[in-house]
Amino acid sequence: MKRIYLDHAATTPLLPEVINTMSTVMTDHYGNPSSIHHHGRSAKNLIEQARKAIALELSASVGEIFFCSSATEAHNMILHQAVAHLAVKNIITTPLEHHCILHTVQHLEKQHNINVHYVHVDQNGLIDYEHLQELISNNDHCLVSIMHVNNELGVINDIQRISEMCAATDSIFHCDTVQAIGKIKIDLEATPMAFMAGSAHKFNGPKGVGFFYMNSDFIIPPIFHGGAQERNMRAGTENVIGIAGMAKALELAEAHRDERAAHIQQLNEHLINSLSQELDDIKINGAQRIDNIISVSFPPSPKSDLLIFNLDISGISCSSGSACSSGIENDSHVMQAIQHPTERKAIRFSLSHLNTMDEIDYLIESLKKFTPVANSAHA
Ligand code: PLP
Repeated sequence: MKRIYLDHAATTPLLPEVINTMSTVMTDHYGNPSSIHHHGRSAKNLIEQARKAIALELSASVGEIFFCSSATEAHNMILHQAVAHLAVKNIITTPLEHHCILHTVQHLEKQHNINVHYVHVDQNGLIDYEHLQELISNNDHCLVSIMHVNNELGVINDIQRISEMCAATDSIFHCDTVQAIGKIKIDLEATPMAFMAGSAHKFNGPKGVGFFYMNSDFIIPPIFHGGAQERNMRAGTENVIGIAGMAKALELAEAHRDERAAHIQQLNEHLINSLSQELDDIKINGAQRIDNIISVSFPPSPKSDLLIFNLDISGISCSSGSACSSGIENDSHVMQAIQHPTERKAIRFSLSHLNTMDEIDYLIESLKKFTPVANSAHA
C-alpha cells in the first residue's frame, strides 16, 4: 500500500541533497570541531559556513546565530535566562503558542516573581492587536513571546506590527519562528526581534538540531556549563552532521521557496475546494493562514471520532494537531482557545512540495468513507 504523508508540520522527510551533505560530513569531517588539528578545523569550518549561511538568510550578524539541539531547547533557554538576567517582570504571550513556550512560561510564573498575560484571540485564531498594545502599554519590563505561524491552524501573525509595538515600548520581542522558516522570508533588519529560533526537521533537515538568534543588544548567559562551544553560549560538542544538514536544507528551501509555495498553493486550493464540494458541513479553522497547514473541522458522525485512525489504516498519515500532544482524546489547547466545538473533530493536514494532486484526490476519496458526504456528491 502506498503511504501518503500529510503531517509536514510535525516533521518533514530529509531531502536527498541533505542526506548527501550529511553523509559526506559523516565520512570526511569526523573531527571534533574544538580540536586544533586539521580534522578539527575542517569540522569547525563546516559549522562556521552553516552559521554564515543562516545569518545571511535572516539578515543577522554571524555572531548572533547559535546552534543547539532543538527549538524546544532554544525557547527554554531564552525564556529562563531573559527572566533571570534581563529584568523581565511581565511576559505577554498568547494561548495559541506551542507547549515549549506555554509550559515554560507557566513554570517561570511559579518559580519567579513575574506576571503572565495572555493576549485575547478570536475564534479564527487571530490575535487582538489592540489588547496586545494595551498589555504592553500598561506593564513595564515586558517580554512579548508570540509565534510567527501557528503550528495547528497555520495562522500567520503580523510580526512586523508586533516588532514595532515592542520597539516603541522597549519591550523584548521573542518569536517562535519554527513553522515559518524556509517558507516565509524573515528579515531581521526590517523586523527586529531580540530572540527567535528554528528547527531543522521542519524544513527537510535532520531531527535533533536547531538554532537560535540572539540580538547583540539582548545578551543572556548560557544554561549549560562545561564547554566553550558556540562562543560559550551552548556547551557540548556540536552536532556537526546535523548543523551541516540544517544549513543545506535551509539553502534548498530558500532557493526553491517560490516554486514550492506555488505548488503548495495549488494543493491547498484543490484540497479546500474538494472538501467543500464533496463533504458535508466542513469548516476550515483559522484565518490569514499559510498554505501548507490546513486545519479542518468535521461534523460529528459515528466514524469521525476515529477519523485519524481510519485514515491511517487507509494509508494516510495526518494528525489532530501538535505531534507532541497527539494521542490525546480532547481538543488541543489551541482548539480550546479558539472555542472549536467539542462535538466536532479537528484534523490538521500539513502539506509540502513533495505532495501531489493525486494524493489530495486519494485523501478526499478516503474521507468520503468515514465522514458525511455533501448531498450534491451523492449524484
Ligand atoms: N514551536 C513550534 C511552533 C513547533 O511546531 C514545534 C514543533 O512541533 C516546536 C516549537 C518545537 O520544535 P522542536 O521539535 O525543535 O523542539
